[in-house]
Amino acid sequence: MSGRRAFIKQLAALGALGATAFSPVSYGKPARPGDYSVGVVLDPLFLKHDLPKHPETAQRLVAINEEMERQKIWEQLTPVDTRMATLEELRFAHQQNYIDEIEILSKGGGGFYDAYNQDTYLNHATFDAAKMAAGSNINLNLAVHDRQVDRGFALLRPPGHHALTNKAMGFCIFNSDIIAARALQKYRDVERVAIIDFDVHHGNGTQDLVADDPSIMAISIHQHPYWPMTGGAKFTGKDGAEGTVVNCPFQKKAGNATYLSVYDQVIQPKLEAFKPDHIIVFAGYDAHWQDPLAEHQVSVVGFNQLVEKCLNSADTLCNGRISFSLGGGYNLEPLAHCTVGTFHTLLNNPEKRLNPLGESPTPEADYSQTIQKLAQHHLKT
Ligand SMILES: [Zn+2]
Repeated sequence: MSGRRAFIKQLAALGALGATAFSPVSYGKPARPGDYSVGVVLDPLFLKHDLPKHPETAQRLVAINEEMERQKIWEQLTPVDTRMATLEELRFAHQQNYIDEIEILSKGGGGFYDAYNQDTYLNHATFDAAKMAAGSNINLNLAVHDRQVDRGFALLRPPGHHALTNKAMGFCIFNSDIIAARALQKYRDVERVAIIDFDVHHGNGTQDLVADDPSIMAISIHQHPYWPMTGGAKFTGKDGAEGTVVNCPFQKKAGNATYLSVYDQVIQPKLEAFKPDHIIVFAGYDAHWQDPLAEHQVSVVGFNQLVEKCLNSADTLCNGRISFSLGGGYNLEPLAHCTVGTFHTLLNNPEKRLNPLGESPTPEADYSQTIQKLAQHHLKT
């Protein structure tokens, strides 16, 4: 183990990942002509929101960081400055009384947000960590928009896609992707943003926050019926935003062929019709076949191919402007390999073709007819 790795591991174990380990550098250009500069945000506060033995633990970022070190990813990236979102920015997605509730619970020492469900926890650092996640995601997306980097990936926690305007749920506190999308619209000349959510759970918070907003398209591929039980294909938006909610639900055993095919047959044509100025991807890796919290069976190379499709959409539709933010993934080894695979794909490294953990031993279910029906449904609205 290198000295630097040991240093990071030691600090991470203490919940105090040293700022020097990820201190921002000046915006870089690719080392090799034709390569991409890939921005990244990671802040020590993301590790301080933690509850040992909970699935959404700070150890997820420690495992990702260790695999990035092992595969020498860090030296290929351009760190972008982190910062906390302002209260005004949090209100791009949330009500002030909910923001106040999170602050009071967190600063009071934390606990479970919902004592009955006991899924979403807070500790003393949660309010600041969630503000840091949202603000850093804004910074990264602005850096992509402004061409300071070509593409980006925010390694943030806590995640956001289940967070509603006035409620935390599903390990999520503030909806960082919606906040970043609205920041792009308010701070730059961005009109339309598409959010592609391939986390295995339905992004119910993202959907709810933009269901009546025709300027933000919410696309989600997920297991269904499954927690949080929302995300049927029928609902496509409301109040003038019909057609901008694009749910692609599949029962268990959906794998690479399903995810890639629904992208080609439903998501890509929806994006072409919407004409986004910018794409944000909520990159959850809990659809991996070894994940303990769901029953889909995507592999590392399947995620890499899916990420490549997202990049191609951005290249053809919005001058390459695309940024990723970390979603779920609760088996640490596949989570780390999937995340590093996404970085290899963003960097256009040859390693994006590798499949370190192999394919699911269970055959994938055939959802080709379901995809045809989804195409008929979504492409007529
Ligand atoms: Zn999930």
